[in-house]
Amino acid sequence: MAEKTFPISKERLQEIIRQYPTPFHIYDEKAIRENIRALKHAFRWAPEFREHFAVKATPNPRIIEILKEEGAGTDCSSLAELFLSEAGGVTGEKIMLTSNDTPADEFQKALELGAIINLDDISHIDYLEKNAGMPGCLSFRYNPGNLIEGNDIIGKPTEAKYGLTRDQLFDAYKKAQEKGVKRFGLHTMVISNELRSDAFIYTAKLMFNLAVEIKEKLGIHLEFVNLGGGVGIPYLPEEEPVDLEFVGNGIHEAYDTILGPHGLTDMAIAMESGRAMTGPAGWLVASVLHEKKTYKDYIGLDACMANLMRPAMYGAYHHITVLGKEKDLCDHIYDVTGSLCENNDKFAIDRKLPKIDIGDILVIHDTGAHGHAMGFNYNGKLRSAELLLREDGSVELIRRAETLDDYFATLKYPGGLMK
Ligand SMILES: *Cc1c(COP(=O)(O)O)cnc(C)c1O
Repeated sequence: MAEKTFPISKERLQEIIRQYPTPFHIYDEKAIRENIRALKHAFRWAPEFREHFAVKATPNPRIIEILKEEGAGTDCSSLAELFLSEAGGVTGEKIMLTSNDTPADEFQKALELGAIINLDDISHIDYLEKNAGMPGCLSFRYNPGNLIEGNDIIGKPTEAKYGLTRDQLFDAYKKAQEKGVKRFGLHTMVISNELRSDAFIYTAKLMFNLAVEIKEKLGIHLEFVNLGGGVGIPYLPEEEPVDLEFVGNGIHEAYDTILGPHGLTDMAIAMESGRAMTGPAGWLVASVLHEKKTYKDYIGLDACMANLMRPAMYGAYHHITVLGKEKDLCDHIYDVTGSLCENNDKFAIDRKLPKIDIGDILVIHDTGAHGHAMGFNYNGKLRSAELLLREDGSVELIRRAETLDDYFATLKYPGGLMK
């Protein structure tokens, strides 16, 4: 069982809401630090362990800064994410650019920052050289095709647009070698929101065997193997979190067994965990505006799918707590909705909850990753604020809520700019 908790008392939250009106996402600094520490602990046996936090999960420099203090770097996949990384104090090879369909300005910025560049395709070697130059350390993203099943979020590798095939991979290293690149890494990212520990060990074995083959066929001694992200979190209360110690130990054994005989046990292990670092450490806090009873009983919030689109996009479950009614019997069935003109704008469908009254505060759990990050402005909805609950209990505004002026800032129209 994954207990669904919220680190703030009702009284304190009401105080916070008086200062920062709902809706907002709030992140727990302590929980984020604990998550990264647990990941690092599971890989403490490695000669070097690098966590490149996947910026897309929670693209906020303050979050990047906290993770940096715990030793993490970043995994970026866009120009803005490279700038966010820099703003959070992460530069150089602490950054890994794992992008696809990459535009030239991204490669240029990555090179300027001294990032490790992870190429998504063999054709990108020439494109990179022509448009930006060659980096000191180059990595390639491997797509293992039908060697791995994949899952609902990321799909089957053979259907995925990402990465190089096995044959291309060997050609790519050779080509980069010929262009004078001396330092190399290997990357893959084939699972997403995966809760089965074995999947990570399986992937690691595949990658270690490949590292041995690369050494034997091309004489390339890889500096690191990056196992990507994809560590799942228990969105459902009855799910179990990934046992990171079990995963770490399993990968350790594979590391020694597979790499040991080939003298490759100085290779660093890298990961790009996003969701598992911040997902369970964030909550969307919203107020109940309306109750509507037609064929079903609807609870309408001041938040909508623009604040959290996972339920609409993936049919994802996000646990909901009604503040102050945690102990009440869940004897009512509601659809919890937002106000978009889209019928899938629902945070929950047929959810058993305690009796809800207008003005109640709802806390939607596990929104720390791919929550605010996936926000959008459809229907002219404004994106919410992001708050940080510090370890000392204070609350820091780390992104203000958008205003109508922000919405109009990019518009050109006869009446001129809105006041
Ligand atoms: C999304 C992504 C990650 C992070 O995945 P999580 O599921 O958040 O751990 C890491 N690497 C790449 C290339 C990604 O696209």
